[in-house]
Amino acid sequence: MSHTALDVLQDVFGYDSFRGKQYDVIQTLQQGGDALVLMPTGGGKSLCYQIPALLRPGTGIVVSPLIALMQDQVDALTELGVQAAYLNSTQDWQTVREVEREFLTGQLDLLYVAPERLLTDRCLNMLARGQISLFAIDEAHCVSQWGHDFRPEYLGLSLLAQRWPEVPRVALTATATAQTRAEIAQRLQLEQAEHYVSSFDRPNIFYRIVEKKEVRRQLLAFIQQEHAGDAGIVYCLSRNRVDETAAFLAEQGIHALPYHAGLDAAQRARNQTRFLREEGVVMVATIAFGMGVNKPDVRFVAHIDLPKSVEGYYQETGRAGRDGEPANAWLAYGLQDVVQLHRMISESAGDEMHRRNLAQQVDAMLALCETTSCRRQGLLAYFGQQIDACGHCDTCVEPPESWDGTIAAQKLLSAIFRLWRERGQRFGAGHLIDILQGKRTERVLSNQHETLSVFGVGSDLSDQMWRSVLRQLLAQNLIEVDSEGHRTLVLTETSRAVLKGERRLLLRRESSSGPAAHKVKSQRAQEPALEGEDLRCFEVLRSWRAQVAREQGVAAFVIFQNATLRAIAQQRPAQLSDLDGITGIGAHKRETYGQALLDCVAAFQKQNQDQLMPSAALE
Ligand code: ADP
Ligand code: ZN
Repeated sequence: MSHTALDVLQDVFGYDSFRGKQYDVIQTLQQGGDALVLMPTGGGKSLCYQIPALLRPGTGIVVSPLIALMQDQVDALTELGVQAAYLNSTQDWQTVREVEREFLTGQLDLLYVAPERLLTDRCLNMLARGQISLFAIDEAHCVSQWGHDFRPEYLGLSLLAQRWPEVPRVALTATATAQTRAEIAQRLQLEQAEHYVSSFDRPNIFYRIVEKKEVRRQLLAFIQQEHAGDAGIVYCLSRNRVDETAAFLAEQGIHALPYHAGLDAAQRARNQTRFLREEGVVMVATIAFGMGVNKPDVRFVAHIDLPKSVEGYYQETGRAGRDGEPANAWLAYGLQDVVQLHRMISESAGDEMHRRNLAQQVDAMLALCETTSCRRQGLLAYFGQQIDACGHCDTCVEPPESWDGTIAAQKLLSAIFRLWRERGQRFGAGHLIDILQGKRTERVLSNQHETLSVFGVGSDLSDQMWRSVLRQLLAQNLIEVDSEGHRTLVLTETSRAVLKGERRLLLRRESSSGPAAHKVKSQRAQEPALEGEDLRCFEVLRSWRAQVAREQGVAAFVIFQNATLRAIAQQRPAQLSDLDGITGIGAHKRETYGQALLDCVAAFQKQNQDQLMPSAALE
């Protein structure tokens, strides 16, 4: 049996070294201390509790909010030869009894439990009769009442500290502003815990934000040109939009499935399982989908509506590329989104302060969209982290040009001002632009707006340009959406300085082809490229993996991750000892699948030779 953390990492998991703060967290827990771990998605949080659970006597209890996820975690551990099980509401009583027996007789290294389950008397009594090595509280931000994933059951977890003061506890999350972190520490009674905060940067994700035009066409082009056959997630704001978009993509031959809270539970579970198990499924979803989705090879996350906050956006995009390989975050947004979000806020429940808080979050998101500097800088600044321009986002790759928009802004602001002052009227974006451009629409004529002094003063700019100006004025808080929710635009405190010519405004110029369409696409080129024979060998291994996964009813990545298959395709091992040191092959997997892998490689080599023979004979 292994003795040090490094031994376990290598022998059981097949990895050669620790990442980031993993080792420090493991040490703390191994010595009986508590820890609060903030690591971005894909940072490797699981090992932080799995390894100490293997090293300490007793069973590690993992609190995890998602039932669908437990199964994959347990499958993956079982493949590694680790004794793991879960308890949740999907099991029949016989299975539950059996798992309980295994726990009580000390056979389990890890036991996953849903929080509501854990807090039942039956479960607490069972735990009291066995030996516990540690408690791991995954997705710990669920305890935060301000966050979007709040789960009331999580509040009950402070009980663990009281009942088992001597058992080390670790809380883990991929999302936390300083405020959320303080809340986690306080509510879970982890004030004494060591904090391990990693950089939140996800360097393998390429960030891109485009202007919304015909969004379904744009989305389709993005998927077809850059992600044909890839797994991805498309986020929409409403259930209707999810259904429409999924149907549209499916019609276009993309393997797309819907997911939202309006579907019945069975359908949701089925779609989620297909997303996890099959390759190349595109999940079109509301934000109800995703927390804890641990599929490592999601290659893109697309948003076709403006997310409500930067924190939510970062978390959603973080579901791409957990395996560390290149992935894309793509967002399309337009003026309409901003107006719609503000309307939703004004209609939402809660007091004025709550609504103001929500509106500020939208504004921060809008500012990120309209920024002329590095997107990643903007994102990470939101989490209190400073970085240099990243070189791996659309604004870094093709810095937007700027232009002096002072006069345009003055025209727009004064149109809003005059309508209100002279006529006591307020209007939305479309009508304001019509007035500026001097369009004699029915609405213009019936209101006699052609007699306004600002009528037609903006005919030099296109519709698209005016929309861009409007968005940027919103982003800079020089105008705002009327808080009564009529979708009309009003001036703010800060508008005056621009109107009076005391402040110059540099605006971002939208390129007509859509931001940087040519330069910033196809991040695939950067993937550790497999070519020719290696690529064909990889495909052979992949179909072998698909077959094994099907036979065992588990997700493909549970058998081996792409990185492992890629290494094999490149190295073409001929004997078992050649498998040593290939990432992701521990002792148990080598024993179970080593020979099959070698057979795959050998068969590929032979077929390759046979194909080469005739041409060799010609020489
Ligand atoms: P998180 O829960 O933080 O999102 P995971 O624990 O799922 O991340 O780990 C992400 C991926 O990285 C997994 O495929 C995992 O096996 C892999 N991984 C974790 N730690 C290491 C390591 N030290 N070396 C190599 N791969 C690792
Ligand atoms: Zn950048």
